[in-house]
Amino acid sequence: MENIADNLAVVKDQIASACHKAGRRPDEVRLIAVSKTKSAAAIREAWEAGQRDFGESYVQEFLDKLEDPQLSGLPIAWHFIGHLQSNKVRQIAGKVSMIHGIDKVSTAEELSKRATQQGIDIDYLLEVNVSRESTKYGIEPSSLLSAAETCFRLPNIRLRGLMTIASPDPDLARREFSELRECLEQLKSSSPDPSLLTELSMGMSQDFEEAIMEGATMIRIGTAIFGWR
Ligand SMILES: *Cc1c(COP(=O)(O)O)cnc(C)c1O
Repeated sequence: MENIADNLAVVKDQIASACHKAGRRPDEVRLIAVSKTKSAAAIREAWEAGQRDFGESYVQEFLDKLEDPQLSGLPIAWHFIGHLQSNKVRQIAGKVSMIHGIDKVSTAEELSKRATQQGIDIDYLLEVNVSRESTKYGIEPSSLLSAAETCFRLPNIRLRGLMTIASPDPDLARREFSELRECLEQLKSSSPDPSLLTELSMGMSQDFEEAIMEGATMIRIGTAIFGWR
């Protein structure tokens, strides 16, 4: 049995020392506990230990957890971090504080449509394929600016930054994180409202220290908190 509270404490220490090394304040980095495939009881345990941001990847599993008696009513900030198909957007709109993995303009358009229907604003990130692995989702860096041009104009959704999943090799990962930060800088210079573009969602259990060195504002950690899936 994993001791989730202990694991969380260790991860927070590691975040603090990575921030120290990077000359950043620990409160500049938001820890998202990735709870996909893990039970509501495990999430509850992390919540009791003070964790408030959780990441889920699968729409149905996420909806089931929202209804779970152990979690319903808790003020959890849910992040949808999985690949989101257009036809599933409707099911999660209004239920998450941030959607991380939008990788197509058409999905952003669908999100905008649903947000407008519900009369709400939804924060989201565009996923960028900086590792250029063909098996990964994400917009190619060279297409990002033209995709964002359309996204900036969509009503009721707010582009808040970029997200990526890096290569497994930590040295390569670090270069990719650096490239994502450069992509965000470019995006800011073409945005009608650069002050909204504050987020870099990058770094997982294996590479969050590198991500913090390169400016991550949100790190998504599953295994190091909840154990192997
Ligand atoms: C599963 C997942 C994570 C967490 O990965 P760990 O290696 O378990 O920390 C982070 N981001 C995304 C997009 C994921 O799907």
